[in-house]
Amino acid sequence: MSVVTPASEAQREAWRSGGFPEVERVRPGLWSIPVPLPAIPLRYVLVYALELPDGVAIVDAGWNTDEAYDALAAGLKVAGFEMTDVKAVLVTHIHPDHYGLAGRIREVSGAWIGLHPADSRLLRDRYDDDAVDTLVAQERTLLLRSGVPQATLDELAGASMMIRHYVTMAKPDRLIEDGDRLGLPGWDLQAIWTPGHSPGHLCFVERERRLLFSGDHVLAKITPIVAVHPQSAPNPLADYLDALAAVRKFDVEEVLPAHEYRFLELAERVDHVMAHHEERLAEIEAAVAAAGGITCWDTATGLTWSRPWETIPSFMRRAANNETLAHLVWLEARDRLRRVPGEPDLWYPA
Ligand SMILES: [Zn+2]
Ligand SMILES: [Zn+2]
Repeated sequence: MSVVTPASEAQREAWRSGGFPEVERVRPGLWSIPVPLPAIPLRYVLVYALELPDGVAIVDAGWNTDEAYDALAAGLKVAGFEMTDVKAVLVTHIHPDHYGLAGRIREVSGAWIGLHPADSRLLRDRYDDDAVDTLVAQERTLLLRSGVPQATLDELAGASMMIRHYVTMAKPDRLIEDGDRLGLPGWDLQAIWTPGHSPGHLCFVERERRLLFSGDHVLAKITPIVAVHPQSAPNPLADYLDALAAVRKFDVEEVLPAHEYRFLELAERVDHVMAHHEERLAEIEAAVAAAGGITCWDTATGLTWSRPWETIPSFMRRAANNETLAHLVWLEARDRLRRVPGEPDLWYPA
């Protein structure tokens, strides 16, 4: 059940019915352009186009397929622009559906690409073909210590390799830090560092128009994955919850997320997501207390998920494991659980 009011009924209906939303004019000079993600359940990423005196800036880009490129070009055309008019690509975070197409857009338009340094640092290890074996090996170790059965270890360790292909390796031209003013003419845009879903996730607040570009940090219905993985911070859930509090204080009229649909009540949605994690923490703490010495994997498989565990595809099962680990680590940092390291690590009540 949603606790927020959709800002666009048409967009919400498109999300709910499994359709594809229209290009929409959000405000004078501001457009929402859906870009297709056919391989994953999110279905599309919402790219925002901000009109400038001499062109257009976009928030996020979509991933690198011809279909995505063409949809973005068609959307820009509705707004009155060509791909060559793009002056800036503000990327909320490093994930392929947000960042993947940025390099190709720069090639045709000369736009600058902006990214937070904490995500920029991860680019090489994540997307460079020579480095990726190391990342898979680190993931394998993490899963081994989580107690993933030997038979599924390799399958799970390599489970996101498919998605990598939707990215062009493009170094950012500009590193955007917490609090930076973007200086786009006509826009009072300020970057807010919101780590958790990704170490360098950024939101952008527009105080004059009272808008928050929230990326994947705050969405209308889904909660973003916050997981421990080889490239995450040590305690990503703590970072994420702090970053939720950091955006909650903004007095905005509308939230412009990267998926689903735009909506009105930021504070209510933040409270709801915080409560969700509180419940998850309590559920996990209780599971560990009941078992007294349990692996992360066995904890994860015993939790309630949105569908039966056996029907969850392997890359989602890995995400579920790593998300459970993020909660275990959070509880450990609060001295509510303790870990006995090994292969696998075992978790006990504190
Ligand atoms: Zn993401
Ligand atoms: Zn996303």
